[in-house]
Amino acid sequence: MTRPSADDQSTGGGELKHGAATRRLRALRSALFFLLAVAVVVGAYYWAGARARSSQLHRYHSLLMDTDVELAFQTGSAREASAVQEAVFGEMVRLEGLLSRSREGSDIDRVNNRAGREPVVVNPETAAVAAAALHYASLSDGAFDPTVAPLLDRWGFLGREFRVPAPEELEAVLPLVDYTRVELDPAAGRIYLPRKGMSLDLGGIAKGYIVDRGMALLREAGIRHAFLNAGGDIALLGGKPDGTPWRIGVRHPREPGECIAVLSLEGGAVVTSGDYERLFTAGGRSYHHILDPRSGYPAAELASVTVLAGTAMEADALSTAVFVLGPERGLSLVESLSGVEALLITVDLEMITSTGLDGRVERLEEKQVPAANTIGERKAI
Ligand code: ADP
Ligand code: MG
Repeated sequence: MTRPSADDQSTGGGELKHGAATRRLRALRSALFFLLAVAVVVGAYYWAGARARSSQLHRYHSLLMDTDVELAFQTGSAREASAVQEAVFGEMVRLEGLLSRSREGSDIDRVNNRAGREPVVVNPETAAVAAAALHYASLSDGAFDPTVAPLLDRWGFLGREFRVPAPEELEAVLPLVDYTRVELDPAAGRIYLPRKGMSLDLGGIAKGYIVDRGMALLREAGIRHAFLNAGGDIALLGGKPDGTPWRIGVRHPREPGECIAVLSLEGGAVVTSGDYERLFTAGGRSYHHILDPRSGYPAAELASVTVLAGTAMEADALSTAVFVLGPERGLSLVESLSGVEALLITVDLEMITSTGLDGRVERLEEKQVPAANTIGERKAI
């Protein structure tokens, strides 16, 4: 014998009772359908909202290394984002404290103070950046030279008390500018400048290293889409959260606030050295802060050099090196290195690109303001 099912039971009553039950069932079904429809609509709304929120970039700014540092990345909650940005900026502040020549008591300041007297034990990271600086100095045959400081000081670039030095003044300090004389023991973390008056300045490479460290922290935090821009030293993590590449604006060397070209990039680093970054005018001429270590005068052939490389440190050192080398020697250095590309802009605003960038540079028309989603050298718009 089979037991009647629940349905059988409900249909077991008389005519009238049966009709009322059906109506109740229909009402119940409609109510259920209605609730289901509401749930679907509300769920879709929240899903779309969450998607929009998660593809949003959290943006932060901080004044570090004498420049506006801009950080943007995608992550879950605002609280998470805030903790990450604190860690990134904190790391950058720590490294600036080690590597800056103008910070009293920094590793570089201590090395410079003991020049001609004794070796100084520095943080392993300082030793590593100094070693990298010497590597790029030898790679560029001294066009990049981290001992260029005595010359910079004659021009007043450190304290911003600009002046045009007499040629004899420059000649007098030229013998102090020689990277081959730096004694660096990376294993012991010791640096010695053997002549009094010699001085290290990692200004052409340290910002890149610091940006790389900031990026490393973002990566360790599991972030997949980010950019970090320290006044033209840019490192990227992946592309934009919407799957498209980042658009990097290359500043117009002669039109402040405008871009001359745009590069579309995912990952890696892009750094620009320009003659417009730090300059002063005297007697109707302008003088900028990238010096040719051979002559002691500002390098004069190029207006800006943008280098793309795997790390911001490499791009930073090479952009300064290529700037000093000029278009021909600079370009041949870039072509000799794998994973490195460059966009050179001459003082006549001629654009020269390395072979790997052929067709990848979007040149903007005269005085064109970059598109709304372009990261400029100083700001993301
Ligand atoms: P910025 O710091 O403006 O982004 P760069 O990366 O080109 O520009 O670095 C310029 C800095 O590098 C100068 O302020 C100075 O500290 C240092 N510098 C200047 N000339 C040289 C050079 N020939 N080699 C190495 N460093 C240099
Ligand atoms: Mg540089």
